[in-house]
Amino acid sequence: MRRDGLVYRKSRASVPTSAVHKILRTRLYTGTFEWRGELYKGTHQPLVTHELWAHVQDILDGRRTKRQGLEQNFAFSGLINCGHCGCALVAEIKKQKYVYYHCTGFKGNCGEPYVREEVLEE
Ligand SMILES: [Zn+2]
Repeated sequence: MRRDGLVYRKSRASVPTSAVHKILRTRLYTGTFEWRGELYKGTHQPLVTHELWAHVQDILDGRRTKRQGLEQNFAFSGLINCGHCGCALVAEIKKQKYVYYHCTGFKGNCGEPYVREEVLEE
């Protein structure tokens, strides 16, 4: 993708491998998404077929043996953005049971406070 000239639209910076990895992992592009262990069909137009996406997951999983078990799936990861600055919200676990989402703040300091997953569900 780098060789093909993929860059961020505004900064013209090259897209890092981690960003490409995240794109390849995003189930949402197949038109479906997972929530609380259930699969749902979105109302948006899919970008890739489920078969292609599943094939890519198999390939990535095969290359991931070292880190297996470390990655966690949170209900709203990749689905929501900060209402204040528009950056992605990321999830983390506190006290080994509470899931909190917070703004990545990539566009600079964002004062948006943490939000509990239960609050987002409501
Ligand atoms: Zn923010």
